[in-house]
Formats: sequence, structure tokens, C-alpha cells
Amino acid sequence: MTRGSWTSVANSVWDKTNFSWALPEHSLLQPAWDYLQEHHHASLRSPLFPVVLSVTTYLLLVVLYTALDLLAPTWPSINKYKIHPHRPITWPKIWSTLGLTTYNHLVYIFPAAVAQWLWRPPIPLPREAPTLTHFLLGILGCTVVFDFQYYLWHLLHHRVGWLYRTFHAIHHQYNEPFSLVTQYLSAWELFSVGFWTTVDPLILQCHCLTAWGFMVFNIWVSTEDHCGYDFPWAMHNLVPFGLWGGALKHDAHHQKPGTNFAPFFSHWDWLGGTSFSPSPSKTLKGKTDKRA
Ligand SMILES: [Zn+2]
Ligand SMILES: [Zn+2]
Repeated sequence: MTRGSWTSVANSVWDKTNFSWALPEHSLLQPAWDYLQEHHHASLRSPLFPVVLSVTTYLLLVVLYTALDLLAPTWPSINKYKIHPHRPITWPKIWSTLGLTTYNHLVYIFPAAVAQWLWRPPIPLPREAPTLTHFLLGILGCTVVFDFQYYLWHLLHHRVGWLYRTFHAIHHQYNEPFSLVTQYLSAWELFSVGFWTTVDPLILQCHCLTAWGFMVFNIWVSTEDHCGYDFPWAMHNLVPFGLWGGALKHDAHHQKPGTNFAPFFSHWDWLGGTSFSPSPSKTLKGKTDKRA
């Protein structure tokens, strides 16, 4: 067989192979995207949609984790996964964190959402869905960028005393976090986190479906960081080589605030010499919440 024939056979095989794996990848997200466009076109185009999506996601996760927190003292099958099994989450803690969360939503998030609704035109929606590869790589890319941005912000707000006292100390009022501590934040920290979550998919030129996927993923893993549970299906137990910090490392940050500044991955704390990896049995038990 001549060189030209080999090339044409190779191209033919490549085209067939390419076609056979590209088609299912496209078809995986396209039907769902077509359905959403057909039935919820106006809602998806609204500037309010990302806000509604993020608030709803957070609310659902917090309700789920808080239900587990309230059941844990009497259900050993839940309590055994708690990082601090002898420190139950009490109603005063729930009311206090819920109070600031509600205040932040009413005073900052809701007015900002209404302002966007009034002044921003509806966003155009592309006909094509992203491929599954673009969708997943987009979420991964946004998570890596966000992780670095928050690492720098977090380090700075611990190293500069005025920044810590003014903007970040409030988040450290609980040294054994639970889900509602996730958004127990100053307005500046809430704005910073919301800004990066919105801007990172634009920087990486993601499809809007990818941007919304990143928003949901970001809220999920941020809440998991603070949930106070070491579940077998948690990200830090699924991602190999200790590359994902997760609930154990962030719980350690709330107890040893000079460690574990990155929100998700471990590499920046490894490089910066600020990594601390506790095992569940070695968490600093016996310390009490300042607002318990
Ligand atoms: Zn925290
Ligand atoms: Zn901190």
C-alpha cells in the first residue's frame, strides 16, 4: 500500500472514530438544552436567573445539612460522620447564622438582583449546547481560577490586621463550622466571592450553561467545606493525592486560622507552606465556639 493510501485510510478511520465519539458527546447536553430553551426561554434569559439559581441551590443544601445537624445527636448513623461528633449544632447557632444570612440577602443580594433586572437587558442564549468536555473543563477551569483568587484574598485578609478585623473576622466567629457558616460573611467578602463566580466564566469564555454549572458547583463545594461532616462521597475523599482540601482542611482553618487558606484545592497551601492536614480523630476537640 502506498503512502497516499495509508493516509487516506488513516483519515477515514479518524473521521469515523471522531464521528462515533463526538456524536454522543454532543447529544448528551443538547436535548436538555433544547428542552430548557423551549420551556424556560424567558426565565433563562433574565438577569435574575443566576441569582435565583444560586440562592435556591444554597437554600436547598443548607436545609439538607441543617436537618442532618438536628438529627445527628439522636441518630448515630449520621453522627459518626461528624468531624466534631461531641459538639452538636444548637438552635442558637442556627438562628444567629440564619439572621446574618437573611440580612445579607435582603440588604445586598436582593437589591443588587433587582438593579440588574431593571437595567441589564436579557442575555442572548446560543442555540448549541456546550459539548460535555467543554462543560466539564469549563467548570474545572473556573474552579482553578476562583481557588487562586480566593487564596490570595484570604491570605491577605489574614495577614493584614485591619482587613481581618474589618472584613473577615466575622466568618471566624465559629471555629467548628456548620453549613450556615458558609455565607456568614461580611458584605465585602460576599461581594468578592459573588464577583469572581460571575466574572470567571466570562474570562474563560464559557457557555452560559457552563457558567451556571460552575455557580452550582461552587456553592455545593463551598457548603461542603463548612458542613462539618466527613462523608465518604465528599470531594476530598473522591479526588486523589490529597489534591482537594474540602471539609477537613477548612474545618482545620477555622481552628488554626494560619493554615489552609485555599478554599478548594491543596496546591497553593502546599507551595506556601500553610497546609495542615488533620485526620478526623486529630481535630482540635475541646475548643468551643466563641458564640456557642
Ligand atoms: Zn470558612
Ligand atoms: Zn479565614
